Amino acid sequence: MSGRSCKGPFKILVLPGDGIGPEIIKEAVKVLKALGEKKGITFNFQYGLIGGAAIDETGVPLPEETVELGKQSDAILLGAVGGPKWDNLPPEIRPELGGLLKIRKVFDLYANLRPVMFFPELKNASPLKPEIIEGVDILMVRELTGGLYFGEKKRFTTEQGEQAVIDTLIYTEKEVERVVRLGFELAQKRRGKLTLVDKANVLESSRFWREITEEIKKEYPDVELSYMYVDNCAMQLIRNPRQFDVIVTENMFGDILTDEGAVLAGSIGLLPSASLNGKFGLYEPIHGSAPDIAGQNKANPLATILSAGMMLRYSLDCPEEALLIEKAVKAVLQKGYRTGDILEPGTALVTCEEMGDLVAEEILGGVYDEGLPL
Ligand code: NAD
Repeated sequence: MSGRSCKGPFKILVLPGDGIGPEIIKEAVKVLKALGEKKGITFNFQYGLIGGAAIDETGVPLPEETVELGKQSDAILLGAVGGPKWDNLPPEIRPELGGLLKIRKVFDLYANLRPVMFFPELKNASPLKPEIIEGVDILMVRELTGGLYFGEKKRFTTEQGEQAVIDTLIYTEKEVERVVRLGFELAQKRRGKLTLVDKANVLESSRFWREITEEIKKEYPDVELSYMYVDNCAMQLIRNPRQFDVIVTENMFGDILTDEGAVLAGSIGLLPSASLNGKFGLYEPIHGSAPDIAGQNKANPLATILSAGMMLRYSLDCPEEALLIEKAVKAVLQKGYRTGDILEPGTALVTCEEMGDLVAEEILGGVYDEGLPL
């Protein structure tokens, strides 16, 4: 694979955000720089404002300048937004709604990818028994810009004078098609299994998703497709999570199931995510800005470092380099280094900064053969 174009120059928009955001982002950038040095890749990092930091400086949570910088970039790497300082602002100018949800909407980031990875070194951190969690490797794909969360909402009074409410679930054919197609493509590159999660026994929208999925399936004969009701999926994820490869689902079901997926791995400090529109994507850890530990050099930067790994894989066409980051993280964990959130007896406590140094050193040390599976 030496003829690949994983050399850059890549333009990365870095949005540290609030709370622990700047601390964890610093370590992810450090790791990318180490990778650049090791592999001769040019990364051009540009920094922008989002969230509370943007409100403090410009009065708005997503300045136009940030959007412009994003448009000129190959990908966006984000820390986290929000914190008590901005909690009492009107919702539309709060960091979460006016910053994070808005940037997802502006860039039409319709597919949210969350891998659920099993780290043998952390098997005791999971609430599930080791024999159930062992070997789990799931990629959850959640539709992110449609469905119930974005449909019309209203309150009204019935003819009988009773208060009532409507939330509208709406999906267009195109919205379903693009995310389901992505699911097939991702399954093709993994173990070839795709599960569409829905509630087709009750919901018309689910039957619509199934019809479209059946059509697309004809183009991917090598992918084994199955359907599962969302209630069953919630149960199967804790009974037998190894059965899943790629899961695709609509926005609200995905919201709930991806959080359930997150606990399988044990710590939210470890889980990365990607929000994609084709090849362009925004990469961020799944956790928030952790104001309780901000500024203390205690945060776990691994979810953000692994998010940078996803960026290499999905936006920059650098799958081997993504693997290198994942292997380096694994090696550091194998050597027994832990931030406070995943500390166990017999392991060594390190700071956020030390964790970043350790991963960068593993990469620069070059002890891994390219292409070796994890
Ligand atoms: P949180 O994820 O920030 O924190 C939950 C708990 O997990 C805290 O105890 C925190 O210390 C711990 N934690 C989180 N990330 C960690 C890490 N990397 N290392 C070690 N420990 C970690 O969730 P919250 O407390 O509900 O929210 C805090 C703020 O973050 C709120 O303002 C919320 O709106 C915002 N938020 C932002 C995002 C985002 O930017 N994507 C996501 C969720 C919440």
